[in-house]
Amino acid sequence: MPIDELMKGEAMFVDIAKIKIKAGNGGDGAVAFHREKYVAAGGPDGGDGGKGGDIVFLADDNLSTLADFRYKRKYVAENGQNGRGARCNGKSAKQLVVHVPTGTVVKDAETGRIIADISRKEAVVIAKGGKGGWGNMHFATPTRQTPRFAKPGLPGEEIEVTLELKLLADVGLVGFPNVGKSTLVSVVSEAKPIIADYHFTTITPVLGVVRMGEGSSFVMADIPGLIEGAGDGMGLGHRFLRHVERCRMLVHIVDISGSEGRDPIEDFKIINAELKKFNPELSERPMIVAGNKCDLATDEQIENFKEFVTAQGYEFFPIMAAIRYDVDKLLNRIWEMLSTLPPISKFEAEPIPQIEVDKIEKNAVTVRENDGVFFVESEWLLNIMKSVNFDDSESLQYFQRVLISGGVIDALREAGISEGDTVVIYDLEFDFVE
Ligand code: GDP
Ligand code: MG
Repeated sequence: MPIDELMKGEAMFVDIAKIKIKAGNGGDGAVAFHREKYVAAGGPDGGDGGKGGDIVFLADDNLSTLADFRYKRKYVAENGQNGRGARCNGKSAKQLVVHVPTGTVVKDAETGRIIADISRKEAVVIAKGGKGGWGNMHFATPTRQTPRFAKPGLPGEEIEVTLELKLLADVGLVGFPNVGKSTLVSVVSEAKPIIADYHFTTITPVLGVVRMGEGSSFVMADIPGLIEGAGDGMGLGHRFLRHVERCRMLVHIVDISGSEGRDPIEDFKIINAELKKFNPELSERPMIVAGNKCDLATDEQIENFKEFVTAQGYEFFPIMAAIRYDVDKLLNRIWEMLSTLPPISKFEAEPIPQIEVDKIEKNAVTVRENDGVFFVESEWLLNIMKSVNFDDSESLQYFQRVLISGGVIDALREAGISEGDTVVIYDLEFDFVE
């Protein structure tokens, strides 16, 4: 079957996708005053807006590809309800749960920053819903008894993200097409990958669970054949390289008989070069070598190859995958090595980088004044605030400097602020100090 046919329709394995997500906006706080028959000038009783819905991602083992995201590309959570009079707070919106295959790495599509690695069974918030605004009752003070303003809800986070599936397997099989990778997985696990004597029969990585006795097992990934140029994005194999990235070790399989007119030593070098090109760390990954199709090879071929790889420090295992000959020796060694290796790597979320204060120029800032409360609004500031941890004093100092160099303090002065007035910047509130 030609590869084009295999790539069509159902057989297509989708392991990368780009989607837009938008968390819900917070509801606005209400401006309202208590009304009762015969009672004049009731106090402010406008309730708070509800919180907008978060967008959370959840790992789902029933999903094995990102195919769903080719059809649905936008996910929007509901907004929080506005507050109402009589101290009625608006309802907060439900979170929107996006199910993704286990091992999906979520990145900011614009910057490539890793936002999360969805590989555990716990929901991760990827876009935060906006907080609801305060109703006018919050702004009542002895000197301001009838505040005719409230706080609007904050916008929900909106971001375009790329999803990349990076499979979770202990062992990754790498090698040229047709060397017997799928055959090996099929004889050591319940997984049944397609096996045939044409290239690229594996177009979907297959995970097989290898049982090593009572309660012990490891996961082996049959990675589609790598071909020369894969690391440059040429050919079919490059997409699949990301699936070996987190494998704890690699088993490099060669057709030791050169039954297809290939030279196993050349092939071995080419694959290693491709791995290194894709990710230099991969060439440091513990690797052992299996020489397959020994039934078709001469003793001399086996010896030659063995000499070559062992001279480079690799352990070598001659096998006949098709009849499972000497495969247990290979499995036992894998099992032994795994017991000494760190667990499957998880990608750490990367913090939003803070812009250096020196690089911050004066920006457009809107200041609205209501009865001694100064509301600051500005999109760039909202973005910067995402990178600030307000519980940390160093971060806070950074933010104060941002307010100065970004022109916020000047804008407040222009609006006539004086000592002791209240400043509200989105969900931050503080008293102005000269
Ligand atoms: P992959 O492309 O690396 O996954 O290779 P496959 O597992 O699909 O195998 C390619 C071909 O090699 C198939 O026709 C297998 O039957 C054959 N094969 C696998 N293992 C052996 C073996 O030990 N000896 C021989 N002679 N053929 C094998
Ligand atoms: Mg295969």
